[in-house]
Amino acid sequence: MSTPTEPLPTDIDPNDPDSSASPFPPPPTPTVNTGPPLQPEQPITWEPAMWYSATATCADTTCVNYNRLLDLPMLYSNDGVYVMVICGLCSHACTILAATLLDPQPPEE
Ligand SMILES: [Zn+2]
Repeated sequence: MSTPTEPLPTDIDPNDPDSSASPFPPPPTPTVNTGPPLQPEQPITWEPAMWYSATATCADTTCVNYNRLLDLPMLYSNDGVYVMVICGLCSHACTILAATLLDPQPPEE
């Protein structure tokens, strides 16, 4: 099996005015996000034993989910102090960025 040969981007001359014309940085790679870890805009106040919808992101810089927004349609607040979201890919704790109390609360099973 032969692999097609693709031109490598190493032959770009940095002094070439055409190659340095763009004022924009190159886009981030689609697989792993970079940059500082996302943080919640404001602290989240949890009410105990309630269901929330939440947005979280993985805080592990090596994880594909790093800084990728994860929608959590249902998140239980437990005692209202330790609300944990675990990344399904790397099993590390996620940073919860925002949470909205579900209204009405889902029926108890
Ligand atoms: Zn992760």
